[in-house]
Amino acid sequence: MQYISTRNTEQTFTFKDVFLNGLASDGGLYIPKKIPSYSLKELESLKELSYEQLAVKIIFNFCSDEFNKTEIKDLVNKSYKEFRVKNVVNIKSLENIILLELFHGPTLAFKDIAMQVIGNMYEKILNDKNKVINIVVATSGDTGAAAISALKGRKNINIFVLHPHNKISKIQRKLMTTIKENNVYNLAIEGNFDDCQKLVKSMFIDQSFNDEINMSGVNSINWARIIVQIVYYFFSYFKINNGNQKINFSVPTGNFGDVFAGYIAKKMGLPINKLIVATNKNDILKRVINTGVYKPKEVLQTISPSMDIQVASNFERLIFYINSNDDQITLKKMEELKKNNEFKLNGEQMSILRDDFISESLSEDETKDVIKKINKNYNILVDPHTAIGIGVLDKLSNNGINIILSTAHPSKFPEAVKEATGKHPELPPKIKKIIEEEEKFDILPNDLNLIKKFIKERA
Ligand SMILES: *Cc1c(COP(=O)(O)O)cnc(C)c1O
Repeated sequence: MQYISTRNTEQTFTFKDVFLNGLASDGGLYIPKKIPSYSLKELESLKELSYEQLAVKIIFNFCSDEFNKTEIKDLVNKSYKEFRVKNVVNIKSLENIILLELFHGPTLAFKDIAMQVIGNMYEKILNDKNKVINIVVATSGDTGAAAISALKGRKNINIFVLHPHNKISKIQRKLMTTIKENNVYNLAIEGNFDDCQKLVKSMFIDQSFNDEINMSGVNSINWARIIVQIVYYFFSYFKINNGNQKINFSVPTGNFGDVFAGYIAKKMGLPINKLIVATNKNDILKRVINTGVYKPKEVLQTISPSMDIQVASNFERLIFYINSNDDQITLKKMEELKKNNEFKLNGEQMSILRDDFISESLSEDETKDVIKKINKNYNILVDPHTAIGIGVLDKLSNNGINIILSTAHPSKFPEAVKEATGKHPELPPKIKKIIEEEEKFDILPNDLNLIKKFIKERA
């Protein structure tokens, strides 16, 4: 499969380029030159597969130049060995609420599902080379832990994680900072997640820095993450669909990576009805879907910190697709954004967008109310991100069955859950010990040059 950049469709790249570079050097995001698709008959043949078998089939479409099928199979099996449920994910039906639990991996959020595979891909790709690679990643709380868990202790890899200082939950932080392997560096940045993301982006487009440290990235713009996330849309669709109902997915959204994987699943032929973009009060995506204006505002801190994002990086990929794959229009929109801090979609672009997406947001109080109500009605605890995926459904009048992506384990956000329900969500036994362990991280100002220097000295 060949890849192109959203800002230049002429030049092609291999999966390996895409995987190791993360961001194209023209500042665009990588996408496949052509998205593979399944006929209804082919979909039928995928229905009975186990999660791992399905993952192998789907992932293979996108990287068959780099890996053979046996290698993908090994990668997938190795990646999910430690998950706490048999089929990687768990589907829980509560009357008309269907939760797709994606948090049974080592760091209690959906990001483990892709990151574990990516960790093993790095190992395979770097295997014969002795060159050290330095991974730099910004996190709003969950990506960092997932990446550290997937990459700690691996040969020839260092990982530098930038998180917004004091703006993530204690458990989120401890899952990153109690890791002892010496290829792991945690940087607490005095700023918010958008600042962290901007710092990492600046490092990526600085070619000389990039070359000097042999830099690579695992942020949600990394295409490999998207392809691994496509799998659970297929898997859960097959499990839930039993006829002609329309099936929607409600996705707690920040950087637009997870819901974008659903969009690609739809483009691959999975007959998803609507993708519901569920946001907290950082609602830039709701505003663009409902009004056509994409305009980042100040990031607000919420009880769903993994969604405290205003600049949703993956949205550029969608801009490309809703403009008939036009790289020049995409480039123009992104330049507009840079220059005016906003861009507007016209009526036609909006109507294409709204064929696939609808959106709503929840306030802090509404989110707590959902956590409380779900606990009262079903005697289970849900985390604040999942609660937003559930709560937006009451504000929307769409029809069909809704599958809600349950993106984090409630014990990752104990303060919010306790406040809403009076109950303390327990960490899974294997993870409990991190509470007591010593933490290691460096606090740094939001200063690009200082951070570059810090990384260079350790790369
Ligand atoms: C990262 C994250 C999200 C948002 O996912 P995006 O791909 O950034 O849209 C939602 N919930 C949780 C728990 C997360 O960790």
